Parts: sequence; structure tokens; C-alpha cells
Amino acid sequence: PLSCFQVIRCRAAVVWAVGKPLSVEEVEVAPPKAGEVCVKIVATSICHTDEHILEGIFPNVDFPVIPGHEGAGIVESVGEGVTSVKPERHHIIYGMCIIPGDKVIPISLPHCRECSFCLNPESNYCLNLLPDKTSRFTCKGKQIHHFLWVSTFAEYTVILEYAVAKIDAAAPLDKVCLLACRFSTRCGAAINTAKVKPGSTCTVFGLGGVGLSVVMGCKAAGASRIIAIDINKDKFAKAKELGASHYISPHDFKKPMQEVLTEMTGHGMDYSFEVIGHADTMTAALASCNMNTGICVMVGEPASGSVICFDPMLVLSGRTWKGTLLGRWNMRDCIPKLVASYLEKKFNSDMLITRALPIAKVNKGFELLHAGKR
Ligand code: NAD
Ligand code: ZN
Repeated sequence: PLSCFQVIRCRAAVVWAVGKPLSVEEVEVAPPKAGEVCVKIVATSICHTDEHILEGIFPNVDFPVIPGHEGAGIVESVGEGVTSVKPERHHIIYGMCIIPGDKVIPISLPHCRECSFCLNPESNYCLNLLPDKTSRFTCKGKQIHHFLWVSTFAEYTVILEYAVAKIDAAAPLDKVCLLACRFSTRCGAAINTAKVKPGSTCTVFGLGGVGLSVVMGCKAAGASRIIAIDINKDKFAKAKELGASHYISPHDFKKPMQEVLTEMTGHGMDYSFEVIGHADTMTAALASCNMNTGICVMVGEPASGSVICFDPMLVLSGRTWKGTLLGRWNMRDCIPKLVASYLEKKFNSDMLITRALPIAKVNKGFELLHAGKR
């Protein structure tokens, strides 16, 4: 297509500075350079990580920036040397046949398949994360920065080839965009990071999109008892639907959650997950899993510079404390498989979708997130 060589003008939600709301602007998107892909974003969802950018708690995010990292779209054009995905093409052998561009999910943890981390099957963090600090976006004459290599709050975005995963052409993009971050992260937190065993007990602190997906992951791994915790009781119905067996609010107890959970189970949980991002709930989650073989996984993102004080005996007695980024999936290889499982109806991530909004109402989406109604 002609656009291969053209600057595209489209809408994008830009954050000009920390603390400012998103502003929907017309931006210019430069064509992809060698090794890059231009993607037409069809749908994107809002994750709390995007909210963290607005709050300015990520030290390495430069402003102005286009956030968004849970998107799905169609390849518009590709730069030199790109072989794994293709834009729309015209097939002359069969007459006027037009083959649409590949459907893709941009991935916020790229996978170059060459560095020592990418070659380690246990790792999902690429060492070649930032080959080029330049930007493909401009607005009102100013350079706009990319976020997590993907910036999906734009109608068109330019991404590294090794940060896009090609998915099945039958995938509904407005549904599978969720698999790009929250769903995969959190299911992976249960399956890959904690390695939840069938018949075990699990507790999940925080029932946002991420926490609810962790509940689904624990259920899929065969946990027999899943205790879901949130201060917002409106979240309990969905947690129940997704497989939680008990739901509790810290507001209903005078004791700390770790004591409540230890009483409920006798000796503490087999697995605990913190999916809020607060230092106090992180230590509560650690103390909630059993003192000897308990595994606590940190999924929530703490504010940068946060410091945790904890009794070292909690870990000395045998507990394991782990963290996870994107559920430790190697996203480039796993996303196509997850999409295939979605199409085979092996799980129903649609239940995590609360509503659809046009890009012009992006701030409304964040208001709903604050109100806990996303
Ligand atoms: P969310 O705001 O939708 O959900 C957070 C939930 O925690 C809410 O339901 C809220 O009511 C509840 N909560 C708040 N304080 C609480 C408390 N003291 N006790 C119990 N419940 C409490 O957020 P989300 O999109 O689900 O994201 C959750 C966290 O996961 C964020 O910190 C986000 O940045 C992080 N995250 C991590 C990764 C990763 O790869 N590790 C990826 C994406 C997001
Ligand atoms: Zn790599």
C-alpha cells in the first residue's frame, strides 16, 4: 500500500505531562524503518499500568507519551527486512484478489530470539529492549515518546518486528486485545510463576482485571480453594463466576488479612498473589502463605522508590517470594497459542470486558477505572 512510504495522520491519546489527563490529538506517524512494523490498532484496553504512567510513577517514561499496551490490530506496512508479518497485499495471479494484512498483538515485552535472556526458556525478558530511543510520533511539531515499545492508544503505531505477535486471522480483535497484558500476565502468574498444583489453596489480593485473571489461572491450574480479597465488594460476583470459592473484604475484619487467612486454612495458603501494588498488602500476602512451602507472587506494581520492611523470619522458614512480569510468558511465542485457545473456547476472557468506548472517550475509561467499574 501507498502508506508504506507516507506519514499517516491519525488520532492518538497523548499525555503531555505527569498528572495531566489524556488529550486526544491528531498525530503524525512516520513510516516504519528497517525491522519495524506499522500497525493499525483496532482495539485496545486500559490496564492499571497505563494509569501508573499518568501518575508518573514509572521513572523511565519520558513525556509527552502515548500510553496503551493492550491492543490488537492489523499490519498496515512493514519496514525493510521484516519477514514474520505482512501488510495487505494484492494477488495478481488470481486476478483481483486482496489478501488482508496480518492480525497482530503488540507485545510489551519484546522477544528478539537472539539474546542470552531470550534463548533461556525460563526467562521472558529480552536484553535488546531499546535498540533505538527515537520516536515515530509527532504532534504539533513535538516528538511524542512511545510507551513500552507499543503505544496502543494511537490509531496507528510503529513497533519493532520482534514486539509483535502474529495471530489467527479469525480472532476478534476487540476481544483478544486483553490477552496482550492483564489476562496473560495474571494467568501466567499462577501457572508459570507460582506453578500452582491441583488441589492447592490460593489467595488473591486485589480483584481488578489482573487479579480476576489470576483467579482464573488458579482455577485452571486446579486449585481447590481460592480466597479472593478486595475492599470493593462489587468485585465478588465476578470473582465467584471465575472460580473463587471464598471472597472477603479486609474492612470486615479487625485482624490483619494474614491472620484471617491462617485461621481459615489452619496453617496458611499454599500460594498467595498480591495484585494491587501496595507495600502493606505485599507483606500481608507474603505472611499469608504457609511458613514452610508457601509461595507468594508479587504481581502489583509498587510506586517507584517504594521500600518494604518485613520480618526476615517470614522467608527464612522456607517461604518463597517471587515477582512476575507478564506472567513469565514468552509473549511472542505464547500469544498466538493463547489466541488459538481462546478461539477453541478453552477459556472465556470476554467476561473481563465491561464496556467498549470510542477513542474520544478515553478519559471516561480512566474515570470508570477509578470508580472500580471498569
Ligand atoms: P485495578 O485498579 O483494576 O485493581 C486493583 C484492585 O485492588 C481494585 O479492585 C481495588 O478495589 C483493590 N484494592 C485496592 N486496595 C486494596 C486493599 N488494601 N486490599 C484489598 N484490595 C484492594 O488494577 P489492575 O489493572 O487489576 O492492576 C493491578 C496491579 O497489577 C497494578 O499495580 C498494575 O500496575 C499491576 N500490573 C502488573 C503487571 C505485571 O506484569 N506484573 C502487568 C499489568 C499490571
Ligand atoms: Zn532478546
